[in-house]
Amino acid sequence: YGIIVCDGTPCINSGARTLTSALQEQLDRHGLRDRVTISLSGCLGMCDKGPILVVNPGYTIYGHVTEADIPEIIEEHLVHGRPLARLAIQEDHLYNRFFRVFGDEKFFGKQMRIALRNCGIIDPENIDDYLSLRGFEALAKALTELTPEQVVAEVEKSGLRGRGGAGFPTGLKWKFTAAQKATPKYVICNADEGDPGAFMDRSAIEGDPHTVVEGMVIGGYAVGASKGIVYIRAEYPLAIRRITKAVEDARAHGLLGENILGSDFSFDIEIRLGAGAFVCGEETALIHSIEGARGMPRPRPPYPSVQGLFGRPTLINNVETWANIPVILLDGANWFRTVGTENSKGTKVFALAGKVVNTGLIEVPMGTTLREIIYEVGGGIPDGKKFKAVQTGGPSGGCLPEGYLDTSIDYDSLARAGSIMGSGGMIVIDEDSCMVDIAKFFLEFTQNESCGKCTPCREGTKRMLEILTRITEGQGRPGDVEKLERLGDTIQKASLCGLGQSAPNPVLSTIKNFREEYEEHIHEKR
Ligand code: SF4
Repeated sequence: YGIIVCDGTPCINSGARTLTSALQEQLDRHGLRDRVTISLSGCLGMCDKGPILVVNPGYTIYGHVTEADIPEIIEEHLVHGRPLARLAIQEDHLYNRFFRVFGDEKFFGKQMRIALRNCGIIDPENIDDYLSLRGFEALAKALTELTPEQVVAEVEKSGLRGRGGAGFPTGLKWKFTAAQKATPKYVICNADEGDPGAFMDRSAIEGDPHTVVEGMVIGGYAVGASKGIVYIRAEYPLAIRRITKAVEDARAHGLLGENILGSDFSFDIEIRLGAGAFVCGEETALIHSIEGARGMPRPRPPYPSVQGLFGRPTLINNVETWANIPVILLDGANWFRTVGTENSKGTKVFALAGKVVNTGLIEVPMGTTLREIIYEVGGGIPDGKKFKAVQTGGPSGGCLPEGYLDTSIDYDSLARAGSIMGSGGMIVIDEDSCMVDIAKFFLEFTQNESCGKCTPCREGTKRMLEILTRITEGQGRPGDVEKLERLGDTIQKASLCGLGQSAPNPVLSTIKNFREEYEEHIHEKR
């Protein structure tokens, strides 16, 4: 018998922390205090339905719970063994307030959780919870049964590609870093998530920081590094607290530090805070920031695997990529390859946001279509409105209209459709939104975040924003759309880093798919 209170940021913000004392009071009242445990968890994904409680037996999830609901939940579910979800089916007035996880087939039915496998299940601040679910077994297997070369080979065979956005084959990155002779080598976890509407990394760390730690130690062993750094943005205080505690607890259990698990391998992790610059998600800018310099990208090559942090070989992966590593080692590359598509193996985590019924954190197998995500997992468009577009890849991605709803979620299909996978932001747009406004919103963001190092990005995005502003203010001129296309094309080709190269994408994709809206704005004024 146990109750799990979701302690992720969205649930905390909707009042989850007020529920614990009410739960204890009611358990006392029914003499159940010794038989029912109350524990905390990270995000289950249903962020719009917080605060969320999971009550066992039955693994029933209750959403939008208030303190006033607690006596009824305890009485019905735990005293009489009648989950309120069953009542909800018969009682319309309860229907929108309570639901069951396994009754909510649409939300969970298409999902498959690998990176988020423990989120919403374990208490993220209790390493014993993680250990009880095969935590650090993958590390033990690596240290006792596999050579570093075999670990690299397994990751390469799995087909895992970087989940930070670019989709570079993870195993190849590991191989390049492992092949370098220079020492010391470093391992970095890029947790500098900054896209508007994205909260995958924050939620993943808040829900299960241990898998990131385990993945990094395995990475360190594989490439011959003895030091790891988690670079996480300072705006994520709960995630910082949890990853810091996970590192300390791993150290206390002999899973970090000298001679890990009695082997001759030593590795430790340090937490470094980023100040919130979007460009620091770019790996060379992130490395500069850790070195104490201004976070600006530099040309590549040399790539970080050859010359990274302090000029040494550095393996850098994002949170979700690291979270996949323990599963690949435990269940094997062959199993991992069975999930996903030919060129995109495994699953992908998305932060589903915007005009969709179920906003929240989801993880689906590669190959799931946009339609399945939006209409099944996401529950469709609220208030009977019509779908207009979906923005994948955040400010670096593109807006895809209805004709692309059957596009499969994989790196290649999304690129062919004119967008990108990105790190997992997915914003649904309904018929009420103006696509020129949307494009302007994203360009305003990237223009603001441009580090200013190279002219095409610094000046080009500013000129594009000026044109977009005058169009949205009814001052657009004939030829403005063509100017935007020319500028966008130049910025894509001539910018130094991914931020500039992808900044025009929201504008160019909305011109391609919704050109008439631009023309209407210009025409209206005339
Ligand atoms: Fe800086 Fe933009 Fe150039 Fe990147 S493309 S280096 S963000 S100015």
